Amino acid sequence: MMTTDTVAEHQPFQAEVAELLHLMVHSVYSETDIFLRELISNGSDALDKLRYEAIAAPDLTADGEPPRIRIVPDKKAGTLAVVDNGIGMDRQELIDNLGTIARSGTKSFLARLTEAKDGAGLIGQFGVGFYAAFMVADRITVTSRRAGTNEAWTWISSGGNGFDIAPASDDDAKRVARGTEIVLHLKDDAKKYLETYEIERIVGAYSDNIQFPIELKPEEGEPRQVNSASALWQRSKSELKPEDYTQAYRSIAGAYDEPAMVLHYRAEGRQSYAVLLFAPSTKPFDLFEPTRKGHVKLYVRRVFIADDADLLPGYLRFIRGVIDSEDLPLNISREMLQNNPQLAQIRKAVTGRVIGELESLAEKEPETFTKIWDAFGSVIKEGIWEDFERREKLLALSRFTTTSGEKRALKQYAEALKPNQTEIYYLVGDSIERLKSNPKLESATARGIEVLLLTDPVDAFWTSAPLDFGGKPLKSLSQGDVDFGLIPLLDDGAADKEKPAAADEAATIAVIKDVLGDRISDVRASQRLTTSASCLVAGGTGQDRALERLLAQQNRGAVTKPILEINMRHPLVAAIAGQQDAARDLSLLLLEQAQILDGELPEDPAAFASRLNELVLRGLGKAV
Ligand code: ADP
Repeated sequence: MMTTDTVAEHQPFQAEVAELLHLMVHSVYSETDIFLRELISNGSDALDKLRYEAIAAPDLTADGEPPRIRIVPDKKAGTLAVVDNGIGMDRQELIDNLGTIARSGTKSFLARLTEAKDGAGLIGQFGVGFYAAFMVADRITVTSRRAGTNEAWTWISSGGNGFDIAPASDDDAKRVARGTEIVLHLKDDAKKYLETYEIERIVGAYSDNIQFPIELKPEEGEPRQVNSASALWQRSKSELKPEDYTQAYRSIAGAYDEPAMVLHYRAEGRQSYAVLLFAPSTKPFDLFEPTRKGHVKLYVRRVFIADDADLLPGYLRFIRGVIDSEDLPLNISREMLQNNPQLAQIRKAVTGRVIGELESLAEKEPETFTKIWDAFGSVIKEGIWEDFERREKLLALSRFTTTSGEKRALKQYAEALKPNQTEIYYLVGDSIERLKSNPKLESATARGIEVLLLTDPVDAFWTSAPLDFGGKPLKSLSQGDVDFGLIPLLDDGAADKEKPAAADEAATIAVIKDVLGDRISDVRASQRLTTSASCLVAGGTGQDRALERLLAQQNRGAVTKPILEINMRHPLVAAIAGQQDAARDLSLLLLEQAQILDGELPEDPAAFASRLNELVLRGLGKAV
């Protein structure tokens, strides 16, 4: 039924879309070819969706038309059409899907796109999809009919000014019996995309493994299929070349980089399923968006079911690919996926395989593994906290920057322990540089003890679990007591620095406690310091100070009172007990400098500055 109102309705684009289109049109991306891959990929998704919906509603495909994507160049008209007979879009879907971007992180993506030179790479990470067509077309006409409905709609846009939407003309509606026809009115400098060899080249390079037939309809002659149209994951490993995997990765993940790891196998036994998974070699921009979903697609006997079936745990959310089950029922609803015991088994087994593959990569191709670790280590470490069962394996897989200046595995760390060292030491903070100069390292450094320097936000979290590696507990240098007494100093001369000081420890501590009152929970002589005067540490139980601070920033907890550790051999500390007038200022200074060294501000920075000035002037013998 055609609507009587055939007047086109004009609608503006959502601001983000307008901005994106502006960038696509005005920046010069060398890789304009990608538009075709994006449109083919949308067509393939639409065919997947139709096949899925037809399980519950077989009428949708009762016409018996085999699924296909057809590419139709028309030199006379200067147009290139990409046509699919998939699920199609109704009026509202056209407006929503081709007028807005419903993706988290769009703003930050646009900001980066504006700055970046490597536009296509970023576009691949984000998947601008349909809008990429505006790189090659100055006008796009989309005619679409939602499967099972009797209305077709036409959407037209020249980019900038939004789009018009109207019921399709009778001719157009007849031609588009189901699915979507996208007609690109090519720009003058994009006319090469009308050449059949160009089209075949692009399909071959980017879309060969789309599992539906892609047909090229030359201006004369019958349409012919130009891709191999088989589900690559169902083919045997021996038939496939590295290039095949790269292409499959790029088309499945919508990416442009190389896969750093490929895992392709078939599980047989209680359950049969094919697995084709990839680890990217670059970090997607939205890795830490809270709404980012997993990216492993679930198929059942080659029918696409869902792309957010939680097939891998959150800490492997960078892995992309496909799992195709032979046993799950085809009519499994997306809601049922959550508690399905068969899926839970698959998830467990595949998670184990992915970790096993990462382990063997770390051993056999350490450079490739390092690439993956550098991009995704901060995500994998979430698993140390979340996945109790695999904690040990994940710890072993982890690489840490240490005071040795290298990135090391705990295994290497454990092989280089100092005599009598029974613990693995670490320090959490926000930058390696700042951590390196943290006084809490002094005593460890004097003994040549290696310390892990942890600077990812997630480090504050996983370290809050009680952990050990090979029987050696992990221990924070900013929490609880440390006792290096049995570990020899590197340089005997340094022993002098560690000799007990002459100052009266009890008296000094009493004075400082009196001044600082309830700003701290305790004052004690430090085993950690050799040259600095003071530092702040957390109590032996409870949270590390780095985690506390992080949680407090997010209003998820209060900061508890720290312990002030003082270096009894430091002249400033030694001076306190004997001082009447300056004892108060010196005590406050010990607290405040410890705060600054931890990257915090003193509670009252102005008072701190004037106190410091006073002390300096007094030291210079000037009156204040
Ligand atoms: P993406 O494919 O990454 O979601 P696009 O901008 O390419 O982003 O497309 C936006 C949405 O428009 C798609 O999610 C889909 O719902 C719809 N769409 C695009 N092309 C088609 C098509 N050929 N058939 C049906 N729906 C489509």
